Amino acid sequence: MINLKALSEEELTGFLLSLDLPAFRVKQLLYWIYEKRALHIQDITELSKALRERLSKIACISNLKLLDRRVSIDGTEKFLFGLEDGEAIEAVLIPDDDRLTLCVSSQIGCAMGCRFCLTGKMGFIRNLQAHEIVDQVIAVQRLIEPRTTTNIVFMGMGEPMNNLDNVSHAFKRMNSLLKISRRRITVSTSGVIPGMKRLAGLTPAVNLAVSLNATTDDVRGYIMPVNRRYPVRTLMRACREYPLEPRRRITFEYILFEGLNDSSGDAERLVRLLRGIPSKINLIPFNPYEGAEFRRPREERVQFFRSLLQSGGITAMVRKSKGLDILAACGQLRGA
Ligand code: SAH
Ligand code: SF4
Repeated sequence: MINLKALSEEELTGFLLSLDLPAFRVKQLLYWIYEKRALHIQDITELSKALRERLSKIACISNLKLLDRRVSIDGTEKFLFGLEDGEAIEAVLIPDDDRLTLCVSSQIGCAMGCRFCLTGKMGFIRNLQAHEIVDQVIAVQRLIEPRTTTNIVFMGMGEPMNNLDNVSHAFKRMNSLLKISRRRITVSTSGVIPGMKRLAGLTPAVNLAVSLNATTDDVRGYIMPVNRRYPVRTLMRACREYPLEPRRRITFEYILFEGLNDSSGDAERLVRLLRGIPSKINLIPFNPYEGAEFRRPREERVQFFRSLLQSGGITAMVRKSKGLDILAACGQLRGA
């Protein structure tokens, strides 16, 4: 069985050609699979019954299985999807003013082992295929109609740079087939520099986010093992050299941990580190979970930290913690 969703546009063209089907069928199929979100080949009523039957014998359309759906009191929704091999992944939908952002997973688990992250605690299970990533968008879209997702962030489970082939195929398809602007797609990394360099050369160009989380190698090395390989100075140099389009910025994620990285010294260092990099900062007060070794700072501390960054000339936003009550907030995904 050939899964039509697992094929790129070029591969689908080749496949139809091998069946002696005319090229216009490609457009038709893509439209039905990605825009009409057909669940089965049988649903593609624009094809003759005979052709549908012929195709169904050799091909199929994969779909994620919805296992669970939870809505937070703040409107955030968490979707648990089952994959064909029985594994499960989470995607989180975050409403914000006029935006509806979908946070997608790129791997099952994660090998990076950040101390504060529940996904990291699972360890690494496997990479997601490109269509398993795109399918998160298609499945959620189908479930939330008539609302539409406006933005995609690769901030769910996994380190996208460790699965960049599939991730890049996925954002390419989101852009060309699901018609999501590349400017509304963001790939987040814990600072895997070779991946960042590769991403810089890929099309379509999408936004980059970097999870910085600390300003010294001591602290960052303690909470993020990746820092031992790519320390803060090296990471900042890679960011400074990252080719940005005019008016584009790198987003830096900075989790605030009480007493660990929330001092005025940290704020000053952060301002210095970001000098010369078109950037903005998302401050994320640590999202606690049972047994966590870190604490979330008080709200006044968070605002104070933010004001120090602002006076240093840096755009800083505090990420309202969305979905805390349903464990859908940043770093709380574990495909349970
Ligand atoms: N692996 C990539 C993409 C996942 S994004 C990356 O790390 O960038 C997950 C984001 O949530 C990261 O910015 C991470 O720093 C943050 N995060 C992880 N655990 C968290 C927690 N418990 N509270 C708040 N933010 C957390
Ligand atoms: Fe992996 Fe990102 Fe979690 Fe670190 S924060 S363990 S890189 S998902």
